[in-house]
Amino acid sequence: MTSRLEDAALGAPHEAQGSLAVARTIRELRELLDPWRARSRIGLVPTMGAFHEGHLALMRAARTECDRVVVSLFVNPTQFGPGEDLGRYPRDEGRDLRLAREAGVDVVFAPPADELYPSGFQTWVEVAELSAPLEGELRPGHFRGVATVCLKLFNVVRPQAAYFGQKDAQQLALIRRLVRDLDLEIEIRAVPTVRDPDGLALSSRNAYLGPEERAAALALPRALQRGAGVFGRGDAVAAARAVLDAEPGLSTQYVEIAELEGQRVLAAAVSVGSTRLIDNVVLEETRP
Ligand code: AMP
Repeated sequence: MTSRLEDAALGAPHEAQGSLAVARTIRELRELLDPWRARSRIGLVPTMGAFHEGHLALMRAARTECDRVVVSLFVNPTQFGPGEDLGRYPRDEGRDLRLAREAGVDVVFAPPADELYPSGFQTWVEVAELSAPLEGELRPGHFRGVATVCLKLFNVVRPQAAYFGQKDAQQLALIRRLVRDLDLEIEIRAVPTVRDPDGLALSSRNAYLGPEERAAALALPRALQRGAGVFGRGDAVAAARAVLDAEPGLSTQYVEIAELEGQRVLAAAVSVGSTRLIDNVVLEETRP
């Protein structure tokens, strides 16, 4: 691994530290990345934008471990179902680019939808079993969209490492499985869930919550903590559900213990008004 300073000393063809390139097309992206490939470890952080400290934690991890950091900023239409929040998903590209620059990101890949899904697109990736429970049951087709876009991003960026949040534990497991099943040479790095001081996991969708809804949403991390505390000596799911049931401002979609590619997690989804929130805690590592 070479540092940026060494790169500069070697006359590597890239912008000075603190500069950020934005690629809108796969071709532009490849032109930026190709000169770096031989000598640099490239890290990819896939995102849908509306950055918060969770996204920034992923970028910082990539910045620490890689020579070059690419962030994709793409609100992937194929992972939203009919009636979901694709149209109103928070978007603020100007702010996102500023935050990415401050986090030391080298390239933001922010393509229009038809760059990744040109007309006639018809090839999909399905991670069969891991897509079925939890989020998959409530959001049919969601993980097919996630797996397909991630494989496409892996193919265009060709990173050595890709960074995902523990916040989306099922997505993380699915990507790990995809990489194993399709023999991709990519290290998948997990970053712990970043929370507000009150315990709520950061999410772009928290922006939808009014003050009362936000107060109700706090039952979600509280319930998971309660469940994790009981795990091993009692019924963790029942303990978590009791906390959620006591909060009239939310409705519970699921609370379950799941084994996800080497991690046993207690995962839950709730809706607060028209906002869906998910969260999880790791109960134990199960990988032998
Ligand atoms: P999104 O933009 O919501 O698709 O998220 C992009 C990446 O950031 C995913 O790998 C998420 O798991 C991760 N992420 C989202 N929220 C958090 C959080 N609170 N802490 C850590 N990672 C997160």
